[in-house]
Amino acid sequence: MENSGQVFDVIVIGAGVMGSSTAYHTTKRGLTTLLLEQFDFLHYRGSSHGESRTIRATYPEDYYSSMALESSRLWQEAEAEAGYRVYFKTKQFDMGPSDNKSLLAVISSCRKNSIPVRVLNQDEVFEEFSGIFELPEDWIGVVTEFGGVIKPTKAVSMFQALALRRGAVLKDNSEVIDIAKDRETGEIVVLTGGHGEYRCRKCIITAGAWTRKLIEKVRGLLLPIQPLETTVHYWKINEGNEGKFTIENGFPSFASYGDPYIYGTPSLEFPGLIKIPMHAGRPCDPEDRTWAAPTAQVELLQDWIKGRFGDLVDTKKPVMTQSCMYSMTPDEDYVIDFLGGEFGEDAVVCGGFSGHGFKMGPVVGRIAAELVESGRAAGVELRHFRIGRFEGNCKGNVKDFDDQVKKSPTGKPVTSVLIP
Ligand SMILES: Cc1cc2nc3c(=O)[nH]c(=O)nc-3n(C[C@H](O)[C@H](O)[C@H](O)COP(=O)(O)OP(=O)(O)OC[C@H]3O[C@@H](n4cnc5c(N)ncnc54)[C@H](O)[C@@H]3O)c2cc1C
Repeated sequence: MENSGQVFDVIVIGAGVMGSSTAYHTTKRGLTTLLLEQFDFLHYRGSSHGESRTIRATYPEDYYSSMALESSRLWQEAEAEAGYRVYFKTKQFDMGPSDNKSLLAVISSCRKNSIPVRVLNQDEVFEEFSGIFELPEDWIGVVTEFGGVIKPTKAVSMFQALALRRGAVLKDNSEVIDIAKDRETGEIVVLTGGHGEYRCRKCIITAGAWTRKLIEKVRGLLLPIQPLETTVHYWKINEGNEGKFTIENGFPSFASYGDPYIYGTPSLEFPGLIKIPMHAGRPCDPEDRTWAAPTAQVELLQDWIKGRFGDLVDTKKPVMTQSCMYSMTPDEDYVIDFLGGEFGEDAVVCGGFSGHGFKMGPVVGRIAAELVESGRAAGVELRHFRIGRFEGNCKGNVKDFDDQVKKSPTGKPVTSVLIP
């Protein structure tokens, strides 16, 4: 088998945004890298496909804001190297009831991180966005300049192309079925279906919704990462109003706090359509999905759209839907840590991105590359992302505000961790 005699510095498992960006960052540091993907490259069965993801620095947890700002810079660096755009900047507009704890935490976390933020009332919002957004009287709007849209499939392809250009080896249709430590050489042996065997000094697992399954197999550790099936909805903008929803005319990426949490992007990828989905999903097995949109979700979205945009958008039905998966942790914080056990600090796991990871692809890639290169990552506090936070505490990090993602409709809890 090709490359089977070579010992790579790093093998990255999973070629979504996290794995592809990581392979770019490891090769950038001169590390020989193999990127393995179980399906075709740029497939639509995971989390990193499609036409748009929002980027924003407005987070209730203040540790994400600085990561998002670094990621924004790294997105632009990668774009400059590739020579084409995947990132389209606009304002970020968050809205919700004036007493919503998460939204209030967003405002204080922006202030703590010195991110200029404007808090507007109903009339000021109407003026800011030329009458497009209508807010209830007891809502507030929160405006920052750090918003935008990233084109996911194109961005993943960009990182793969950049990694390839820097010498990475990329293999798709190569499912990793086991990882083991060779006690004699200290190397890590990665086995793929079809009798593939690859060796490396360090390994990075970025397996998205399959992370729990793979980690359970290789370490006997059940991480509390629950795949959720979620749906993206596109709606038709009523004739004559299409231009109002574009970045050129100042339309923002947005999020509406409260129950339900709804988000959206400007009209970009499909002219005349706007993406407005709900931040929600139902627990699933990544290999056994319905691919369907729950009716109750559509009804809630119709009400929200009518309330915010009046007759500017046709709410009869979404004109397009796409299925996708979130990988939820109980506290909705990421897992970025050494795998431990026999692998110690030679293997790193990056998963559980809980529906808000795409924007962070570049910074997560940078962190993962530094962790395997030197055992530490500069300028980032990884405490919130450690696996150990679930030891004896299945809920993980404590938050003073509500969950953002609705695990509906079954409400099945995320399985807690078992550390043997
Ligand atoms: C509808 C939707 C909207 C979203 N919106 C936003 C947003 O606006 N902003 C934002 O920041 N984030 C958003 N997210 C979240 C973001 O897209 C994810 O956090 C991110 O894509 C996760 O990337 P990943 O690389 O971890 O996972 P994936 O993209 O799923 O990649 C994991 C890869 O690993 C492969 N793999 C798994 N097991 C193996 C194995 N054993 N061997 C080889 N390969 C394997 C899989 O096939 C897959 O390709 C959204 C997600 C969805 C679903």
